[in-house]
Amino acid sequence: MIPYGHQWIDKEDIKAVTDVLKSDWITQGRKVNEFEYEFAKYVGAKYAVAVNSGTAALHSACFAVGINKGDEVITTPITFVASANCIIYQEGIPVFADIDKDTLNIDPKEIKKKITPKTYAIIPVDFTGRPADLEAIQKIAEENNLIVIEDACHALGATYKGMKIGSISDMTVFSFHPVKHITTGEGGMVTTNNREYYKRLKLFRTHGITKEVNKDVDTVTIILNSIANHFEPWYYEMRELGYNYRLTDFQCALGLSQLKKIDKFVKRRREIAYKYDLEFKNISEIIIPETDQMYLDVMEGFVKQSESSWHLYVIQLNLEKLKVGRRKIFEALRTEGIGVNVHYIPIHLQPYYQKRFDYRKGDFPVAENYYEKAITLPIFPKMTDKDIEDIIRAIKKVIGYYRK
Ligand SMILES: *Cc1c(COP(=O)(O)O)cnc(C)c1O
Repeated sequence: MIPYGHQWIDKEDIKAVTDVLKSDWITQGRKVNEFEYEFAKYVGAKYAVAVNSGTAALHSACFAVGINKGDEVITTPITFVASANCIIYQEGIPVFADIDKDTLNIDPKEIKKKITPKTYAIIPVDFTGRPADLEAIQKIAEENNLIVIEDACHALGATYKGMKIGSISDMTVFSFHPVKHITTGEGGMVTTNNREYYKRLKLFRTHGITKEVNKDVDTVTIILNSIANHFEPWYYEMRELGYNYRLTDFQCALGLSQLKKIDKFVKRRREIAYKYDLEFKNISEIIIPETDQMYLDVMEGFVKQSESSWHLYVIQLNLEKLKVGRRKIFEALRTEGIGVNVHYIPIHLQPYYQKRFDYRKGDFPVAENYYEKAITLPIFPKMTDKDIEDIIRAIKKVIGYYRK
């Protein structure tokens, strides 16, 4: 079975990890700083903070920007549950806005309809690796004084109007799960250009504890703290309720080694997507992913609005032209050895969300309609040309068999 995603670990990666394992510092050493530094440089952000999962990165970002009890945060129903769960961790209220049927990303027009006086932030997701409509979202955020936390767990290496994803929104979140662009086993990162957010992210990662003396409080407390600090070399203070979200040094060594290969990885993903596009665009039973629109730049001429880094390649079935439903096609492809998948069951249809927030079927028709037709095909850099051929052949065979 060819899975839908898979890591690529080579000898250098293994050496990078074992070198750290043989050293004195296997966690909280300098590999964390190095990885953060290189990652920030790669995406073009001022700051990067490494944590132990993409989910922890989302939670940390929600904390750092100050999402609190009762705050409403708008996100898409077509994403992994973590994009919305992080809001609930901070006792905020997840509010979904429907997707655009072509881009499959959150629809800015729908975001506008969901804004209330309680709205605090927006969490757009760069679904499949294709950047969300960040300019429109930023404009809405500015007009309504909202913060944008971009879930870019699918989009490391993607660009938006020539800028790397990770340098654009107030906060951007990445995951290093093995199916993502680079891996640390489990791991995540938050990038930002805002120094205050950066400091709060670091605090949150280690129990809200710092060794620095608090400079935000009144003078007397500062003096008392300084005296305490001066006389007590063990001094530390806990300022917020944080967690242990640290990433180990050997994982950061793996991340550093993987990051060296990111351009190669993204290039290969784009090649595979291009090949699928060519093969499937003339099959009327299959709707291929919409590719990015061009726009006219006065200086550069026609340029791409954005360039996906292709975490996922999702086709939609044109069900009117098929004798069977999505499930039969899915099962037939699995029988052919193709590890197809479905991303995602809309979050508002999950039992927890239905029970707690009273969402129901029909609330987000575009998302639900997309979900009924979607199948994710395998895409990862380690796929061989033969794997690609096998997948294309299997798709053509199965679609041909069930065609009306
Ligand atoms: C993978 C993923 C996450 C969570 O990342 P983990 O590292 O698995 O915790 C969050 N959001 C999206 C969109 C993801 O794909």
